[in-house]
Amino acid sequence: MSSIKRNFLFLLLLAISSQSCVRNPVTGKKQLSLMSEEQEIAIGLQSHPEVVSSMGLYKDAKLDTFITQKGRAMAAISHRPNLPYQFHIVDSPVVNAFAVPGGYVYFTRGILAHFNNTAEFAGVLGHEIGHITARHSARQQTSQILGQVGLLAGMVLSEQVRQMGEQASQAVQAMMLSYSREHETESDELGVSYSSKIGYNAKEMASFFNTLKRISDDAGHNIPTFQSTHPDPGDRFINVGKLAAEYQAKNPGTYATDRESYLKMIDGIIYGDDPKQGFIENQTFYHPDLKFQFPVPLAWQTQNSPASFQMAPKDGKSMMALTLGNGKTLEEAAQAKIKQYNLQVLQNKKTTINGIPALVFVATVPQQQQQQQPQQPGQQQPTIQLVSWFFEHNGLVLNLYGVASSSEFNNAAIVFQAVAAGFKPLTDNEKLNRKPERLVIKTVPRNATFKEIMKGFGMPDARLKELGIINQLNDNDIVKQGTLIKTIQR
Ligand SMILES: [Zn+2]
Repeated sequence: MSSIKRNFLFLLLLAISSQSCVRNPVTGKKQLSLMSEEQEIAIGLQSHPEVVSSMGLYKDAKLDTFITQKGRAMAAISHRPNLPYQFHIVDSPVVNAFAVPGGYVYFTRGILAHFNNTAEFAGVLGHEIGHITARHSARQQTSQILGQVGLLAGMVLSEQVRQMGEQASQAVQAMMLSYSREHETESDELGVSYSSKIGYNAKEMASFFNTLKRISDDAGHNIPTFQSTHPDPGDRFINVGKLAAEYQAKNPGTYATDRESYLKMIDGIIYGDDPKQGFIENQTFYHPDLKFQFPVPLAWQTQNSPASFQMAPKDGKSMMALTLGNGKTLEEAAQAKIKQYNLQVLQNKKTTINGIPALVFVATVPQQQQQQQPQQPGQQQPTIQLVSWFFEHNGLVLNLYGVASSSEFNNAAIVFQAVAAGFKPLTDNEKLNRKPERLVIKTVPRNATFKEIMKGFGMPDARLKELGIINQLNDNDIVKQGTLIKTIQR
């Protein structure tokens, strides 16, 4: 290295360190941080509406009060008590919790349904608050995001297609925030000490990693993102168990579990997908709230959120999505989309599909728009084409569109057309009134095995494994009379 280069590097390092070296509130050590506290708060403020619009908040006043109370109590004893903390429940069946810098902590309704007591909740709360107080700089692992949501796993076209498909993916990205193993371990330690400090038994936090392990071992279960972006839950079970025992040996006292009160609080919580937000059956996507349906091509992968429904074949060479159009009329929504993506429209026409007024256009995405990611030398970005339908239905403009590279477009368009041709009003009352499943807490009537108890409550054999996971029990475990237990009811 030449001395000029060395000097430059030295100056650069000096510049970085003088600007942004902060004392870590947890370790007390000086740390290179590229983010000021103001920036952290700004990030939280900016991400929160995106999290809400793409995932939705789960409305339950009792649970909201509970998580906010516990959250504030923990924030007060944490290393950064003065941040403007907020605690929210997002309307997702996935088992996950995540934190955004600036003090925003989110739990999915899925993870709340899987906890079996307040101590488990407190451990995860402490872990997430720990990421914030220890100023862990999260990184978003794009490849992992795509792998986990499954849908865009094979998407090879370009960043632009991904953006078209993920207009509202901020929340997905926030959920997939990934930290280094070192930071995860540090957050686990903070989870143990924070939850202990507000009076909960951190050994229960360890046992929740068993639940995560069982979820990840059970392929049929919801994607365990919380677990898969974190270190191995088996290791964490052992480490956190050890830390909890050490903490309690050093600080003798009573540490609460609060099983009954927790279970009573989640009694009735929606479990699994909420059909109101759309569901798939018989190769058809039904949306009871917005009252429409359309076919899903065979073997395509799908992903549904309040903001959009996306689907793609396994080869990832094309994709389709449905979102709300940005406008009050077909023309307005179409123009808004053309402007947003600077599209070059090749054809457009007004039409009627199954009695629904519609507007359709075919367009290309201009080259310069596609070059937002560094290109591999010698690799040409394919031209991207899209076909976009706008439907005026039930007072809303809905936008269904298909995207593919120009070379694939003609083949893909046959499928896109078939889907659009099948877009129609949903009138089937059984589908319109489909109720979600809920957790219902029951009292065990007599000493018996878990399996016998579940049978007694009319739970089907096919759901036993799942019921075992959410109850942290195995088929032949003896459960005592009077114990509260989770059942699933529609
Ligand atoms: Zn974490």
